[in-house]
Amino acid sequence: MRKFTVGWLYPDLMNIYGDRGNILTLVQRAKWRGFDAQVRELGKGTHQGFEDVDVFFFGGGQDREQALVYDDLLELKAEPLTRALAKGAAMLAVCGGYQLLGHYYQTAEGDRFPGLDLLDLHTEAGSQRCIGNVVVDVSGLGLEPKTLVGFENHSGRTFLGEGLAPLGRVIAGSGNNGQDGTEGVAAGTIFGTYLHGSLLPKNPHLADRVMATALQQKRHIHRLEPLVDTLELDAHRRVRDRELAGRR
Ligand code: GLN
Repeated sequence: MRKFTVGWLYPDLMNIYGDRGNILTLVQRAKWRGFDAQVRELGKGTHQGFEDVDVFFFGGGQDREQALVYDDLLELKAEPLTRALAKGAAMLAVCGGYQLLGHYYQTAEGDRFPGLDLLDLHTEAGSQRCIGNVVVDVSGLGLEPKTLVGFENHSGRTFLGEGLAPLGRVIAGSGNNGQDGTEGVAAGTIFGTYLHGSLLPKNPHLADRVMATALQQKRHIHRLEPLVDTLELDAHRRVRDRELAGRR
């Protein structure tokens, strides 16, 4: 059986608002396609076992948890992670994890946590938290449905550098910074977003995009067998239509 490995960064510290559901979704969708799917936990102190990971997942965390992981991230994980991504592994990072892919995250108190510098973006906390349901237009990514739905709760405002493409455009909610209308980032095999919820159960089209990206780059598997997502897409549409009611 073909193996499919999900590398879960800091499962005990960076895992809020249902982020674990993303792991369950990736593993189950791989199993439904006949892969021998497994999760590898990559917690504090770990720097081995990165090379055969197909998809890395980096969940969210409050400022306290980010303060507990950023040094371990830089000292032990930056090198093996960068090497694995260069070999075609994909990354899905949510909120606090997403923020630490960039240059830094600065808290409302002014503490600055350096990030992995994998992407040209930076994040600074604002005075108000961005909290609520979010709908994002991802037609730019060629996904169907052309929307993502989820939940956000963050103080950070993320700004993308010149030429860095967002994951999509906000239709409802704040997204990256509540100013420029962007949400998340899509750069090669790396996907970042502020959407918790958890994200993937109600957005199976994004789950497949992340999986397909890794399998294509790393294993030259160019076709992902389609799955029947009636329930998942029904849940997606219900949330989307409820959030957009009155806006159309
Ligand atoms: N601590 C970060 C912020 O407040 C990330 C929060 C999160 O992951 N939900 O912006």
